[in-house]
Amino acid sequence: MRNDENARKKISESLKRAYKEGRRKPVSFPGESNPFYGKRHSDITKKRISDTKVGNSPAWNKNTRGIMTAWNKGKKLPYPIWNKGKKVPQQSGTNHWNWKGGTSKGYRNGYYSLGYKNWRRKVFERDSFTCQGCGVKGNKKYLTVHHIKSFVHYKKLRYELSNGITLCESCHSKTDNYKGRAKRKIR
Ligand SMILES: [Zn+2]
Repeated sequence: MRNDENARKKISESLKRAYKEGRRKPVSFPGESNPFYGKRHSDITKKRISDTKVGNSPAWNKNTRGIMTAWNKGKKLPYPIWNKGKKVPQQSGTNHWNWKGGTSKGYRNGYYSLGYKNWRRKVFERDSFTCQGCGVKGNKKYLTVHHIKSFVHYKKLRYELSNGITLCESCHSKTDNYKGRAKRKIR
């Protein structure tokens, strides 16, 4: 227990440290969109002012090597121009942690609606969670509720109890509007 707590504390501390250091040296995200963009100016300005005071310093950044020359020189950035109208691949579509079905057809036309869920449950209950094709029970096999008249083409029958039938996957696959034919698998 104690060891676990210590380990957790260490991890969190090192994370904090890494975060702080990252803040001081924004190596990977140059550009105006960087929240820390511009913060470096204070350093640059100080240097410029001090150089000017010294006098013969035509190049304001002369002899600043090691202090601020090309902080990103030679560094390979994770994305060439990381924010240039690009979608970050790992964060788009279904991989995104916040993905909720978006504007997909299934989402809009009611596959996931409360009405659909209730209808599905009612059909299951009416059929006692038993496949109406082969009689297999829901605790033995994954069951699905099949629309006898297709969901897509018979809007008014979508939530009609009599238009639903409980089927196992193999019986479901034998129906004439299964998957590709119905465009989408119902879960
Ligand atoms: Zn079956």
